[in-house]
This record gives sequence, C-alpha cells and structure tokens, in this order.
Amino acid sequence: MKLDTKRKKVAIVGAGLVGALWSVILAKRGYIVDVYERRPDFRQAGYIGGRSINLALSERGWKAIEIAGIREKIEAVAIPMPGRMMHGLDGSLTFQPYGEKGQAINSVSRGGLNVELVNIADGHEQVHFHFNQICRGLDLETSAVRFEDGETGHRYTVEADLIFGTDGAFSAVRNTLQKLPRFNYSQHYIEHGYKELTIPPREDGSHRMDTHALHIWPRGHFMLIALPNLDGSFTCTLFLPFEGEESFKNLQTEQQVLAFFKKYFPDTLPLMPTLVEDFFDNPTAALVTVRCSPWNYGEKVLLIGDACHAIVPFFGQGMNAGFEDCTILDGLMDKYDEDWPAIIEEFNASRIEDANAIADLALANFVEMRDKVADPRFLLWKKIEKHLHERFPDEFQSVYSMVSFSHVPYSQALAEVSAHEELFERMLAIPKVDENWKGPEVEAVFKKWLGER
Ligand SMILES: Cc1cc2nc3c(=O)[nH]c(=O)nc-3n(C[C@H](O)[C@H](O)[C@H](O)COP(=O)(O)OP(=O)(O)OC[C@H]3O[C@@H](n4cnc5c(N)ncnc54)[C@H](O)[C@@H]3O)c2cc1C
Repeated sequence: MKLDTKRKKVAIVGAGLVGALWSVILAKRGYIVDVYERRPDFRQAGYIGGRSINLALSERGWKAIEIAGIREKIEAVAIPMPGRMMHGLDGSLTFQPYGEKGQAINSVSRGGLNVELVNIADGHEQVHFHFNQICRGLDLETSAVRFEDGETGHRYTVEADLIFGTDGAFSAVRNTLQKLPRFNYSQHYIEHGYKELTIPPREDGSHRMDTHALHIWPRGHFMLIALPNLDGSFTCTLFLPFEGEESFKNLQTEQQVLAFFKKYFPDTLPLMPTLVEDFFDNPTAALVTVRCSPWNYGEKVLLIGDACHAIVPFFGQGMNAGFEDCTILDGLMDKYDEDWPAIIEEFNASRIEDANAIADLALANFVEMRDKVADPRFLLWKKIEKHLHERFPDEFQSVYSMVSFSHVPYSQALAEVSAHEELFERMLAIPKVDENWKGPEVEAVFKKWLGER
C-alpha cells in the first residue's frame, strides 16, 4: 500500500532528540506530522531544571542532521573533542586522540539540541507539536494512539497513517506491544548508577580545563568523566556502583563525599566549589539496556530510538544510533519509493542486529573507559592501532573509529572485536614492542594476521 505523501498523516509519540529530528526529516518530505510530548513545552518550561547536561555527537548523528538540512546550525553549538584527556591519581594528564587528525566527537547540550530541533521542526508549517500530552499506549484493534491531556486529564485517541514510537527507554507505545504474543523483550540494569556534577566556569567565563577533550578519571571499577559546555562549564558524570565498598550507598554525608573525591579525584576538588550541593541535589540514576523485537506492529506502527534500543552511554552512541535509525529510514523511503510496508519490513530485518551489536559494544566499552585507558599496554595498543591505520588506511581501522567515525554497520564493528583482540595479543608478544612499535616486526605480524582473514 503506497499512500500519497502529501496526504499522509504521521503521529510521532515523544519530542525527545529522535522524535524531534525525525519530524524535521518527514516534514521535509512533505508529510503532515503531529508530535505528542508528555512534558510541557520545554522551550518555555526549561530543560531538566536548567542543569547543563551534554552528549557526545559523532559521525552517525551528523549524517541524519545533515539529511534534516541543519548541520550548520548544530555545528555552531558543538564543541569538538578530538581525544580523551586521562587524569591520573597523581594529577598527571595524558591525551589520547580518538582518531585521525581532524576527527573528533562533539560535545552538545542535550537541552539545547532538543530545543533547537523542536524549533526547526516547528518552523515547518505541516509539523504540529502537542505538549503535555501523555501517551497511554495503543489501541491495537484500530492502531490508534491513546493519550491523556496532562493538564485536564481528558482522554482521547489519535489515528494516523503512520505512528512512530520515539518515547524513549520506558516507551508507552512499546509497553502495549510487550503484551502481544511472540514479542521479545529484555531489560537489563548494570550495577552502576550515575550522577551529574558541575565544574563551573572561571569568573571571567572561561573553562577551567582544556575544552578540546573528553576528560576522564578512570579508577578501575568506577570513573568520572567531564564534557565541556559552551557557557564555560563542564558537566561531569560519576559512574559508580549503587552498592559495595566504593558506592553511592556509602556516600551519604558531606564528609564521605569529600573524602571520596580527595582520595580518587583530588585534582577535581579545587574545580568543583559546589560539589557537595550538587552531589546531594542531583539524582542518582540507573543505566538500562533495552532490547526487543519486532519493532513494528502491522504496517503502520514503528518504534525507533531508545524506545526499541536503549543502551548504556559508554560508547556515546545512544542518540547517534537513534539518529542513524532516521538516516536508514530516509534511505529506505528512497529505495522503496515511500512504500511503508516494504520500508518497515526491511528496517526490522536489518536494523535489530545492529542495535543489539551497539548494546554489546557499549557495555564492553565501560571496561575500556574505567579501567583499560590507564593501562600502559592498552595505551601502546592505541598507538599501534593509529600507526597501522596511517600505514594501511584501507586495510585497518580500529573498532572505536568504525563506531564513532564511520557508517560501517554496528554488527560489523562488533564482529571485528575478537579479531582485533587476537592481533593485539600477537603484537604485544613481540619482544621490545614498546620501543619498536613502528618497526618491521609489527608490520609483519599485521600482514600475517591480514592474510589469515
Ligand atoms: C548519562 C547518559 C549519557 C548519555 N550520553 C550519550 C552520548 O554521549 N551520546 C549519545 O549518542 N547518546 C548518549 N546517551 C543516550 C541518549 O541520551 C539517548 O539515546 C537519546 O536521548 C535517545 O533519544 P530518544 O528521543 O529515543 O529518547 P528520549 O531522549 O528519552 O526522548 C523520549 C521523549 O519521549 C517523551 N515521552 C516519554 N514517554 C512518553 C509518553 N508516555 N507520552 C508522550 N511522550 C513521552 C519524553 O518526555 C522524551 O521527550 C546518554 C544517555 C545517558 C543516560
């Protein structure tokens, strides 16, 4: 069934990052789009109590932003981070580039980006936002969406030719699908939670640390990270187990928090004058991985973004993956000339494997970030990886680069992990490799490994 685009009515549930961007892309193609959002209009109400929270935007996200035709606008509010700055316990700093010269991931404000996307979408006359409207699930017989007005309590249903559930990790749209027979669903919380903290700007408004890096304090089974904001501040995130010796449970008093930071993150204390207030004012939140299938119901309901693939944030890919969903759907609209049953079928068949792959990669990257980045063997491997890529750009790319700086399907990047680990073991077994990491033995081992593939 192919509907005339001009008459096609779309309902999007959730005006978060993915829903707002998706509405721009659909509007550009001429669809009539109604976006329903649980929160009051955050352009007026303010975003998450006014706290600055940021995200890393990388290549996959940029592509969708480009398709939406808004790259320049978003670039203007993004801070490039070409590498990570590792903070040792002794205050030493080590910079590790993420990729080649000129490659960077970007720090963007979550609230700023969401507001920008909603404003851009709102500028299209065929997009209408309905704030304060809470989705209560689907009516499966009619495929209509059930809503409740957050202010009046009025309940009503909305019918549309296409319905997209972009209502995040705890999606109400998905919640209805979960009741269907043969709907697969899993949700998994890791033992760590997170808390956002702040490094405010200096009095003159400048940043207190290097802005062109994602700062990281790896401490074995926990870590602190910091990303720069345009206003001169950094948003820090502490990832720590909920329970155990070093845990949120054991940080109940001002003294405990200060002693913990003094012991593990001493260089941050002079930078965080509001540490104690922030620690007790800001929530401690949990980190969930959601996997499910199928992502559709019939030929007109489709989940995208966190609603069908919420992942832990350690690869900085959750939003990027959701934006990539939009890129892929946009490509399929061309491929199938807007024939939605065909688009939905192919999207389901190909994308779920990739979403599961980035979920696995993100879980694995937590170990890398909190532990391995401080390991000299790992640092040596990073140097060799960079060297190999420079020498053999067509034959070798690190898994990090595949994920952050390419459009290689996530499942392909995941499939490379064990092969790269094997290469890593062989390289590091070369005598005196730490001195000769650019030497002929390294290249010989690489070529042998390549030949065996
Ligand atoms: C600590 C942390 C750090 C992260 N860092 C990064 C990063 O660096 N890079 C990256 O790419 N990703 C990152 N992510 C992941 C990223 O935040 C998500 O992948 C992204 O927000 C998903 O966008 P979404 O639009 O699918 O869902 P959401 O952003 O959750 O938006 C869902 C929207 O739906 C609305 N909604 C929910 N329920 C209803 C309902 N019943 N009715 C109506 N509306 C509803 C919500 O109010 C919200 O506006 C991070 C996540 C966390 C937790």
